[in-house]
Amino acid sequence: MSLEIVTLTALADNYFSLLHNRDTGETVLVDAPEAAPVQDALDARGWTLTHILLTHHHPDHIDGVAALQAASGAKIIGAKADAHRLPPLDLEVNEGDQFTLAGSPCQVIDVSGHTIGHIAFYLPQEQAAFTGDSLMAFGCGRLFEGSPEIMFESLQKLAALPQDTMIYSGHEYSAGNGAFALSVDGDNPAVQARVAENLQKRANDDVTAVATLQQEFATNPFLRCDQPALRMSSGLGEDANAAQVFAAIRRQKDNF
Ligand code: ZN
Ligand code: FE
Repeated sequence: MSLEIVTLTALADNYFSLLHNRDTGETVLVDAPEAAPVQDALDARGWTLTHILLTHHHPDHIDGVAALQAASGAKIIGAKADAHRLPPLDLEVNEGDQFTLAGSPCQVIDVSGHTIGHIAFYLPQEQAAFTGDSLMAFGCGRLFEGSPEIMFESLQKLAALPQDTMIYSGHEYSAGNGAFALSVDGDNPAVQARVAENLQKRANDDVTAVATLQQEFATNPFLRCDQPALRMSSGLGEDANAAQVFAAIRRQKDNF
């Protein structure tokens, strides 16, 4: 691991991350909810942006781009499929693309579902994946454009990454996600422990949206749709498969 990674809050409940290479001075921003808190974080550390990665086109992930780009000349990297609704891109990427980011290999994974064209950035050397509003801490993004089938498939791709990968996601949704996890998987001690841990983190102003894939497997209802407890909570019978359970649980969360 060579990059320093810091995750901070912006707007009402967004997170952004900064990745910094001490040797080259390169600094990468993942998602730009608004410019001011990002610029403050950069100034406090004496860092200058060189790259901005965009996971998807929603305003709370791109509204800070123009001002930050104007101040730094940073290169903007986002999905080719979404180029028509993202800020002007310097590098358009597709599923499976690999490029070097601040000296570290970076792979592009299509994780459509929340939107079509949503991507995640996986940095194997840093054991880190930036998943935006796809796989999220203790939850997953709402399905605005994709079907449950598409999101399920996207989550399976992320689930196949090494278990010690750190998942960095886009929002502070720990209270709602924790309450929902308790409602569908409440007998799971790991869920109970994570709810308590998140309360403590919130009290200390710590980040709740960064966890290992292993912790997500142990606690995140949307990665546990093959488990008997989730099958039961879905209301589907014994024979329901994980994709069907996912669709039902995601619908329950929409109305939770
Ligand atoms: Zn979004
Ligand atoms: Fe968002």
